[in-house]
Amino acid sequence: MSENRGNIGTHRVLSAALEQTADAVLITDTSGVIQYVNESFELITGYARHEAVGLRPNIVKSGRHSADFYKELWTTLRQGHPFKAVFTNCRKSGALYHESKTITPIRGDGNIITHYVATGRDISESIDLGNRLQELAYTDSLTRLPNRLRLLEAMQTHLDHRSEGAPALVLLFLDLEGFKGVNDTFGHPAGDRLLIDVARRLEDGLRPTDLIARMGGDEFAILMPWVETESGVMAVLEKLSRLFEVPFDIDDASIRLSANIGAAFADGPSEDSYAVLKKADIAMYAAKEEGVSYRFYSDAMMRHAADRFVLKNELRRASERRDFYLEYQLQVGSEDGCVRGVEALLRWRHHAGALISPAQFIPALEELGLLKQIGEWTVREVCRQLQIWRATRVPIPKISINLNAGQLSDASIVEVVREALAFYDVPPGCLEIEVVETSNLADMRKVIPVLKELKGLGASLALDDFGTGFSALTHLKDFPVNAVKIDREFIADMDSGESDMRMLRGILHFALSYGLEVIAEGVETTEQLDRLRDLSCDTVQGFLLARPMGAAEVAARAKSFPFDGPATGTLSPVRPLLREKWADDQAK
Ligand code: C2E
Ligand code: CA
Ligand code: CA
Repeated sequence: MSENRGNIGTHRVLSAALEQTADAVLITDTSGVIQYVNESFELITGYARHEAVGLRPNIVKSGRHSADFYKELWTTLRQGHPFKAVFTNCRKSGALYHESKTITPIRGDGNIITHYVATGRDISESIDLGNRLQELAYTDSLTRLPNRLRLLEAMQTHLDHRSEGAPALVLLFLDLEGFKGVNDTFGHPAGDRLLIDVARRLEDGLRPTDLIARMGGDEFAILMPWVETESGVMAVLEKLSRLFEVPFDIDDASIRLSANIGAAFADGPSEDSYAVLKKADIAMYAAKEEGVSYRFYSDAMMRHAADRFVLKNELRRASERRDFYLEYQLQVGSEDGCVRGVEALLRWRHHAGALISPAQFIPALEELGLLKQIGEWTVREVCRQLQIWRATRVPIPKISINLNAGQLSDASIVEVVREALAFYDVPPGCLEIEVVETSNLADMRKVIPVLKELKGLGASLALDDFGTGFSALTHLKDFPVNAVKIDREFIADMDSGESDMRMLRGILHFALSYGLEVIAEGVETTEQLDRLRDLSCDTVQGFLLARPMGAAEVAARAKSFPFDGPATGTLSPVRPLLREKWADDQAK
């Protein structure tokens, strides 16, 4: 009797425990029909006991587990073993939850399985937290795009599971052109907003299957796992460049950005994601260097990147040994054929005898921080040359030197110029400074005070490569320049069609209306010369008249001007000054 009462007591305690435990408890018979659920089950799932009993546990099935998962579950249970796993289940409301669950077979008489009991705990919160931490590690906090780590891992997964003959995987590496200027001009918060805009534009413009990541700074990458051909990639590249055609709005300003993109295919089976990223990165640099919107990676580029490394080492040595010298190229009046001056162009006496263009080695010198001292040397060297020419009555009234924004952002250049002019006793008007226009407006703004001081000394100023940078037309009025140099590209394009001519005419018209002298560079044919003269371009420079040459040679050459033309005799006799004619036309 007392034993019986003890049994009843135990039963009551057990069922109360079952009823009140924080774990969800569910009991089914061997055919999987629910016989019992406790209160926690009701709370967690949202199903009341009377709703659940008689149905199967699949009422909470989320569909997130594979068939294999359930197969394993049943095999384990039928063998009489408990099955333990984290289930992703579905509440009555439709919300998902994560349940750490153990299902145990219960044996009755004769050791035969009579029921299954499942006990589970809702661990959604800690799982969500883990997921969120995981998300953070893989997400760029500014744009919410996947980050570099995520891109590399996703790419590696693709590479690891790529089957023979599957379409190639393509990685695009994209670097914004002109972003630094926005940061400098409008401040970092505006720069951040711009990056977010770019991210959204990329997301909206590309397919959901493309993985778009922010790699840091103003660099983005796009992983395209299913591109069949190069022309498929081309279509995406075209699309990307269209995405950047529309300006971005920042603080009432409308900003144009462009992008340099490097494209790389992952084709070698042994390649890892880092190797592909490096290829795309190198291709991006090639695009940037060539000033084009995109380039596909080639092995030659990798060699070129290595060459650059060698180049830099050699340049460092060259500047220690002063292996630089200047060549001079004549600038001639388009009407009277008189020598207006020469442009000094930097040359490098390379030990292997190879001719390396300053367009290549000047950026490298700049990166090495050596350009400043070379610019100062150039100033002294041309002043020395001017003194010699003046003393020996060489008819070259002026030398132009090239200084880029970096060289002009430091006001110390003003002192260097002042001292050199004084030391060699050269009138300041004999020195002209060609400011290379960059696409970075902020850099250009920084040089304005320095330019004003140089102009104050009496030096004349010309804006180089006019028409190519983005400050070109609209910002001209802010620059204290006397002259603009029309870029070689426009001259070369002259022969190719009416629309290019209109462009050139527009630029000339614009410059002349500001009262600026116009110098055309890269004049190679007599047709170009004739047309430039008709367009009122004052001064011409180019291979047609003279190539860049050494100081002695150019002095001898200058003495043969003016004549009634270069070797071919095409320069026509003096006509009324075209600027006046143009001004008359305007007045009418
Ligand atoms: P730039 O200032 O536009 O110089 C004109 C370039 O055009 C020179 O190339 C010159 O040799 C070339 N050129 C002249 N006439 C013709 C022609 O009729 N046809 C063709 N196809 N080319 C012609 P170079 O000497 O290779 O200089 C390239 C650039 O390097 C220069 O472009 C300039 O931006 C830069 N640079 C040269 N010397 C210096 C320097 O001392 N300091 C700085 N900062 N930059 C320099
Ligand atoms: Ca120049
Ligand atoms: Ca130029």
